[in-house]
Amino acid sequence: MENSLIFTKIIHGKIPANIVYQDKIVTAFKDIKPKAPIHILIIPNTFIKSLNEINTNNKNIITHMLYTSIQIAKKNNISEKGYRIIINCNEHAGQEINYLHMHLLGGKKLNPLN
Ligand code: AMP
Repeated sequence: MENSLIFTKIIHGKIPANIVYQDKIVTAFKDIKPKAPIHILIIPNTFIKSLNEINTNNKNIITHMLYTSIQIAKKNNISEKGYRIIINCNEHAGQEINYLHMHLLGGKKLNPLN
């Protein structure tokens, strides 16, 4: 099974997930293997494989994903101490799920990036 289907099924409630926010454009849910006390994934409701598929027609989705992440960070009271937002793109970055997703990480002091 193409692994992107996992996220498509989460959006439509076909497999269980801890959804923390959803609107017409994005869905946010808790990462199943959290790397920090707060680890939430934010994805577009319409399938986009990776950042490489962002174009002039769909680029506004990035703003909406980012804005949603910021709101979730505030709601979880991690904005003052700080948090990190990551998008992995393809193999060298370690993108495992072939469905564009933003990681929101916080709730502890995070390791430096490498
Ligand atoms: P990435 O390495 O950027 O592709 O991140 C994929 C993320 O998806 C990982 O942090 C996984 O733990 C997470 N993940 C995979 N399957 C699920 C799932 N069913 N529910 C929630 N998170 C998942």
